[in-house]
Amino acid sequence: MRTLYVRIIVTTMGIMVVSAIIAFIVTNVYYQHYLKPVNDQKVTQIAQSIVSVFEENENEKLDTYLQSMADLGYQFYVVDQDGNDRVFGKEFRSYELESRKIETVLAGEVYHGISNFAWKPFVTGFFDNEVKNTIGVPIQADGEVQALFVRPNTLKQFGEMRQFLAVMLVLMLLFSFLFVLWSTRHIIKPIRQLTRATRKIAAGNYHIKLNEKRRDEIGRLANDFTKMSDSLSRIEEKRQEFVSNVSHEIQSPLTSIQGFSRALQEDHLAEDERQRYVSIIERESKRLSLLSKQLLTLSYLDRIENYEKVTFDLYRQLREVVTATEWHWREKEIAVVLDIPSTMIKADPKLLYQVWMNLITNAVRYTPAGGTITITMTETKSVIDVFIEDTGVGIAAEDLTQIFERFYKVDKARTRTETSTGLGLSITKKIIELHGGTIVAESTLGQGSAFQVTLPK
Ligand code: ADP
Repeated sequence: MRTLYVRIIVTTMGIMVVSAIIAFIVTNVYYQHYLKPVNDQKVTQIAQSIVSVFEENENEKLDTYLQSMADLGYQFYVVDQDGNDRVFGKEFRSYELESRKIETVLAGEVYHGISNFAWKPFVTGFFDNEVKNTIGVPIQADGEVQALFVRPNTLKQFGEMRQFLAVMLVLMLLFSFLFVLWSTRHIIKPIRQLTRATRKIAAGNYHIKLNEKRRDEIGRLANDFTKMSDSLSRIEEKRQEFVSNVSHEIQSPLTSIQGFSRALQEDHLAEDERQRYVSIIERESKRLSLLSKQLLTLSYLDRIENYEKVTFDLYRQLREVVTATEWHWREKEIAVVLDIPSTMIKADPKLLYQVWMNLITNAVRYTPAGGTITITMTETKSVIDVFIEDTGVGIAAEDLTQIFERFYKVDKARTRTETSTGLGLSITKKIIELHGGTIVAESTLGQGSAFQVTLPK
């Protein structure tokens, strides 16, 4: 049974055979318990009618009468007082019958052979053509009581019916077999398609269209499979886009480092120019170093599922970040307002530090001189909301939906000169989501932006 196709067919056939056997046994039992006594009663009535019709016709000869009745579909076995026996109609298969039984009929009693016929498995007594399986009645003929044993000639009475049933059974089995062959092929077809599709995916071809309209489990499986291949295809696209972005981000500082180091090799170079080139090279290598650090962080965040949980004071951490960036905001004459109470939170302190560092440096970077950055907090039973608002340049609505994507920068030309990679907010979002929290941004162009970080306690 190597294929599912063969397995289904063999199982169905097995079920059909077992069901047929069970049905045969059950109908046999049904015959033995319910139909046999009814049949016995019916044949007894027939035998008694045959006797009474004969006895009312005084001129009738028993043998000719029985012969004509036999032609109508009965079998008779007659024994007279001297033990002589005759048969009318089809021969019996067995004439075995205790002589005591014959004597009781000769003495005037009725013999109920049908209802007392032994229970034999797999053969319904109904068709057993034996003298034992008859109804015996006394009949007055030729001046004496004779014993008349009667049973219907089943072959004559039900012959065609039996043939009809046999043909029907054979055709039923044949058609069931053909339909099982056909329907199994129909059931298996989408599974074969799925197998082919799986091989395609394994070979790197994600554009798979399964034309499956079925609504059953296999239809749903095919649907989910198509969805899976779509999402794999999107992941693959994202991966390629990511690789090309990374290469681009690495390439531009490298080109500029190469260019300026070549320029530095020229002899007649003024000292201030030399200084400028060196500082550009330093800035570009810093950019590269930041980029590689951020990429490492992203890959670390992609890999981990659990983070270190430590309870610490959120206020102290935010104050630390504000102090660490003080040099930048003081230089731009930006006011920073940190207005939050001391609040304990359970989180990974190193990762959360990066979140505040990214959000606060962004706020400082995109706020012009003289602006204000406000850090506030609200708290409910289960969550803490931290708001970081600035009075900076703001973000346009069409950019706002994309700023959390990797490598997204609003003003590519301007940010080119700064230590900006477009990865900061995507790292921030990833860390917050790892903690089961969310981050949303609101902004008005030219007026400022507000970032709301919601974290579970
Ligand atoms: P970057 O390293 O370029 O700052 P981010 O992922 O941190 O990358 O930010 C993505 C973009 O979102 C930035 O290029 C910037 O244009 C915009 N942005 C982020 N924070 C602010 C802010 N506070 N005000 C205005 N624009 C912002």
